[in-house]
Amino acid sequence: MSDPSSVLVVGASAAGLSTAEALRRNGYRGRLTLLGAESHAPYDRPPLSKQVLAGEWVPERTRLRPEQALSELDDEFLLGDPAVGLDATQRVVRTASGRSLCADTVVVATGVTPRRLSVGAGLSGVHVLRTLDDTLALRAELSRASRLIVLGEGVLGSEVAATARGLGLSVTMIGPQPAPLASRLGPLVSGKLAELHSEHGVRLVLGHLVEQLVGEHGRVTGVRLDSGQLLSADVVVMAVGAEPSTAWLRDSDLTLDDGVVCDAHCRAAPGIYAVGDVARWYHPALGTTLRLENRTNATEQAQVVAANILGADRTYAPVPYFWTDQFDTKVQVYGRPAAADDATVVEGDPTGRRFVVRFERAGRVTGIIGWNMPKQARLRRREVAKTFGAAALPTA
Ligand SMILES: Cc1cc2nc3c(=O)[nH]c(=O)nc-3n(C[C@H](O)[C@H](O)[C@H](O)COP(=O)(O)OP(=O)(O)OC[C@H]3O[C@@H](n4cnc5c(N)ncnc54)[C@H](O)[C@@H]3O)c2cc1C
Repeated sequence: MSDPSSVLVVGASAAGLSTAEALRRNGYRGRLTLLGAESHAPYDRPPLSKQVLAGEWVPERTRLRPEQALSELDDEFLLGDPAVGLDATQRVVRTASGRSLCADTVVVATGVTPRRLSVGAGLSGVHVLRTLDDTLALRAELSRASRLIVLGEGVLGSEVAATARGLGLSVTMIGPQPAPLASRLGPLVSGKLAELHSEHGVRLVLGHLVEQLVGEHGRVTGVRLDSGQLLSADVVVMAVGAEPSTAWLRDSDLTLDDGVVCDAHCRAAPGIYAVGDVARWYHPALGTTLRLENRTNATEQAQVVAANILGADRTYAPVPYFWTDQFDTKVQVYGRPAAADDATVVEGDPTGRRFVVRFERAGRVTGIIGWNMPKQARLRRREVAKTFGAAALPTA
């Protein structure tokens, strides 16, 4: 099979850029275009809820590559111009500014868009956090505020709460689960997260849903819970999940089902691939489709997509991995542990704040979670690799 003469990557962030770089590394010399909705050069998102929100990093530090590395890629970057439609048969992408871009191969790398609760529509002081611009807007408001309410007790909500406490704000975190990340990490680890946040002064109002945001003169002043309780706030952050950015593909005939549905090769249709947070692909070892929202997946999946564009026939069967940093704690999660799985502490001691937990279901290891024990957690990745049909990493 010959290489495509042109590749158009839609979404110029971690997954899109990694695909372009992997294509060039694998010897691709054809025309390569990266189309991005944001006007910024590709930047990294994990520092946004941590170092950038904390004011420890200037925004430039999040850039994924220096200017020179981008120009050496010999790609055409079309930034600040979102795709608005795709003709999947002709492989033509239309953009908001009226461009029509045609390519032999199209890669969808448009990530996800934060979900917004309808309860506070129209009030100022209500934020989401996905982009650099979101982060800078939130940071500016936090510098003038004293009370923050975070809606959502998932990864993002917990990180924002921790960072804002570090900035000295009074912080309340609200969500339906009994502890932060309880459904993903199980009672032992989420219980430790609850302890960590409480010790640092985050007020946890868990097991509750939000009924309404209240405001005065068009600005948020508080949150009313389903119990009727009213909590005051100067700023509210909605961290209640995200949806794949696929609205522009609505009329494309691609299969959309909580993501762009792909086969095990990350192919959505002839000449069309999806990569990163937006991709729902068939994980051959699990026998089901999966969509992952994490930084490592964006890079790893890009390697497979780039190889397949150039004629390889690789299936993608990773061990899912993400990390989160909250206060002085790094939690690393390999696999897909579920709250109901059997959990055993296999290294360290939870009371000593350094430990590793192994999760098992029906005799198979489903996950490994490390709490401030990065090396030990990584070494145990091989225990979970078997379940996901993935190669174990070298142990050194
Ligand atoms: C605040 C924050 C903190 C995070 N922290 C961690 C962490 O600690 N650990 C971890 O594992 N993961 C973390 N993540 C997740 C990680 O950053 C994502 O998994 C990763 O960025 C996914 O890369 P992506 O390229 O698939 O999507 P994105 O990074 O979302 O990039 C998609 C790009 O496509 C663009 N786009 C969207 N629609 C269009 C369109 N129609 N046309 C053109 N372009 C479009 C978007 O503007 C965006 O630039 C974090 C994410 C956020 C937001």
